[in-house]
Amino acid sequence: MRDETTASERAEHRAGIIGPPDALLQLPRFAGPSTFARLPRLDEVGRADIALLGIPFDTGTTYRPGARFGPESIRAGSKLLRPYHVGLDIEPWTELQVADAGDVGVTPFDIAEAINQIESAARGLYDKADNIIALGGDHTIALPLLRAAHAHHGPIALIHFDAHFDTWDSMFGAQIVHGTPFRRASEEGLLALGHCAHIGIRNSLPAASDLEDDRRLGFSTVTTLEIARRGIDEAIGRVRERVADLPVYVSIDIDVLDPACAPATGTPEPGGLTTRELQLLLHGLAGLPIIGADVVEVSPAYDHAQLTALAAAGAIFDLLALFAKKR
Ligand code: MN
Ligand code: MN
Repeated sequence: MRDETTASERAEHRAGIIGPPDALLQLPRFAGPSTFARLPRLDEVGRADIALLGIPFDTGTTYRPGARFGPESIRAGSKLLRPYHVGLDIEPWTELQVADAGDVGVTPFDIAEAINQIESAARGLYDKADNIIALGGDHTIALPLLRAAHAHHGPIALIHFDAHFDTWDSMFGAQIVHGTPFRRASEEGLLALGHCAHIGIRNSLPAASDLEDDRRLGFSTVTTLEIARRGIDEAIGRVRERVADLPVYVSIDIDVLDPACAPATGTPEPGGLTTRELQLLLHGLAGLPIIGADVVEVSPAYDHAQLTALAAAGAIFDLLALFAKKR
């Protein structure tokens, strides 16, 4: 839905929305379609304000593989989501037509070809949806998603939640893997230099010079230790100031969370955010012009009691609420 609309246009839009089946009258939450939050498929509604797109790709991982199973795990973790968002006081899929666009057909054998498949799927999806939230997949997928988003919005301010920079130049000589998407995005001019931020960096780096390299690309960094010492609101203030009023893309590597909250990920780092701290940080982005997002690096073979899947699905619910709140 367009950002500038009248109350009557919004009411008319709301009346045409198809949501999930009613869990208290029609179909209990443990049953029903295996789409995200049991929402309709995109082909059932034709057009959507937000399309959720699964990208089952993990050929770019460096440590534990398995994020190719992330989309189905996040969808399974989303079944318990209810319509009303307590923190942001809004019902995302009452305000917006949200639909599940299924999974991109990606080759697991050739990263360059997979990147093209993802970019082309995302570009095609913009014909049927105003915005995309991607369900990863490893973090490599952010590069083709940013290419597609840039084609619509121009240079993007990236808010990147991650234990890792993902701005390294290459790994084993490979230029496009899950540790390099934001270096490539920056080189390709997809990002607004000076307006991007990492949140959640911690533990160990290959070298101290990585900090300076990353700053030169236009990022600022909020570490988990800074959040612990100075608080959530200070971190939110720094990030909001950084992105100014540019179009914002939010990329959430689930390893930003502590392994106690999200054990199922490819490159776990102790000392991370709690699920609640991530919620607070995301809610602090309310009102920013968010134009796209992804939640990546959920590798369900390492999950326990759906901890990671529930956290990832919850982060997507937060993102949907932010989109709904934008107006
Ligand atoms: Mn990471
Ligand atoms: Mn990452």
